[in-house]
Amino acid sequence: MPPHPKKKRTSARKGWRWSHLQQPAATITECAQCHSPKVPHTVCPTCGYYGGREIISMAAEEPGEES
Ligand SMILES: [Zn+2]
Repeated sequence: MPPHPKKKRTSARKGWRWSHLQQPAATITECAQCHSPKVPHTVCPTCGYYGGREIISMAAEEPGEES
């Protein structure tokens, strides 16, 4: 005979375990250059700055797709 649960699992306890394992909300910081929200430790997607330096020049990136 296979193992069998001794007691009935109530509807209140059923979802308890996995309800505590949800992923925490993503951290959003403010860009030091343009003050728009961005993910920390990444180049700002709005102005292309990281660590006070321009990493990506946004003027060349803006107009549409190539080819
Ligand atoms: Zn920025």
